[in-house]
Amino acid sequence: MTFASLGLIEPLLRALETLGYQTPTPVQAQAIPAVLAGRDLMAAAQTGTGKTAGFALPLLQLLTMEGPKVAANSARALILCPTRELAEQVHASVAEYAQHLPLTTYAVYGGVSINPQMMKLRKGVDILVATPGRLIDLFRQNALKLNQLQTLVLDEADRMLDLGFSEELANIYRMLPKKRQTLLFSATFSDDIRLLAGQMLNDPLSIEVSPRNVAANTVKQWVVPVDKKRKAELFVHLMRKGRWKQVLVFAKTRNGVDALVDKLQGLGINADGIHGDKPQATRQRALDRFKASDVQILVATDVAARGLDIEDLPLVVNFDLPIVAEDYIHRIGRTGRAGNTGEAISLVCADEVNMLSAIEMLTRQTLTRKMEPDFEPEHRVPDTDASGQVVKKPKKPKKPKLSGGGGKRNLGKWVDSGDVAPAEPSIKPVRKVPVFNTGPRKKK
Ligand code: AMP
Repeated sequence: MTFASLGLIEPLLRALETLGYQTPTPVQAQAIPAVLAGRDLMAAAQTGTGKTAGFALPLLQLLTMEGPKVAANSARALILCPTRELAEQVHASVAEYAQHLPLTTYAVYGGVSINPQMMKLRKGVDILVATPGRLIDLFRQNALKLNQLQTLVLDEADRMLDLGFSEELANIYRMLPKKRQTLLFSATFSDDIRLLAGQMLNDPLSIEVSPRNVAANTVKQWVVPVDKKRKAELFVHLMRKGRWKQVLVFAKTRNGVDALVDKLQGLGINADGIHGDKPQATRQRALDRFKASDVQILVATDVAARGLDIEDLPLVVNFDLPIVAEDYIHRIGRTGRAGNTGEAISLVCADEVNMLSAIEMLTRQTLTRKMEPDFEPEHRVPDTDASGQVVKKPKKPKKPKLSGGGGKRNLGKWVDSGDVAPAEPSIKPVRKVPVFNTGPRKKK
């Protein structure tokens, strides 16, 4: 199959040739004809499958072939993305695909001054890429009207809900013209996403390019059990042993990112961090330097790293497991992209066992465990498998007390350990629901 056989016009084919895209990916093969035919779409596609071109190419074609010229302060197509980085990335791809077309494109997001964005919107833009919060601000300040909107794309819809954008999406929904084409892309499909799709989409065509909730099989994944307090030490050890060159590392919290970056920099390792507390310019600079291999280790929280496309990234390390199991799929999707192979290593301590179990259940696989000599955990990580069960080892029968001994003294490091989890954590089997409900997540 070729892009020409999907019915794409010559200026798009020329752009694809320059980019070196030869064959459509499965999501592109299904999405392009459907979007060109005007259908609404509900697509389950992971990052790295080529989904951006899957919606952007036919969208650009429709905007070129149909519809009136864009009016002042208007947009003809809107692509909503969960984070600033993703908005920038999607916009960069759209602009590349549109390079030979007479269309204008622009990206708006929070964390930067709104005035230049308002100025830029005055003449109107054909394709606007936006994060939900800033889009609403611009709309409320009359810098943007949506009555000319032909197409709405919800990219990474699951993540938008995870980030607490459901209210914003409901507001945006009310701002949209009733007659429009809507394309919804999501790596995973929860009930909430299906509900959103029910409201926003009209007789959508469902596309599923990989089995639901299964991580990319181009990524080799394994787990190294370790005590929490030794994670940083293990990371440095593995890095040196494996001569890692470019690694994207995920930590759970902003403080966790900063602490690891400080530690690595203190050891003379070329590391930088990105998280939601850092100004947008600093985040973008760290990311650009990482992409250019000027930074070797980039440590990030989930919010800052969502959807990033880093060419040929060989390795992702989960310094902490994600609280939401589905984020695991997104994280490891940063590597093994566009047919390349990649590795994803998770450093797992005893009190993360329920998260590990949820990930295994979601991805329907038992992750291989590899013990690293000298780093075997004192606090054993209980066995898990894809059934969602945490297998507790039967307790060893107590040894009879020796007279005169057996006090705390003899327990040595077990008592002095700074780890949070007890030696044999009393863990209940996880619920059969793979997402950890920690309440609404903070919106960035
Ligand atoms: P996405 O899933 O949209 O983030 O795309 C992942 C990566 O695949 C990006 O670097 C794209 O430039 C690349 N890509 C998308 N479609 C193709 C294709 N048909 N052939 C080669 N590379 C592609």
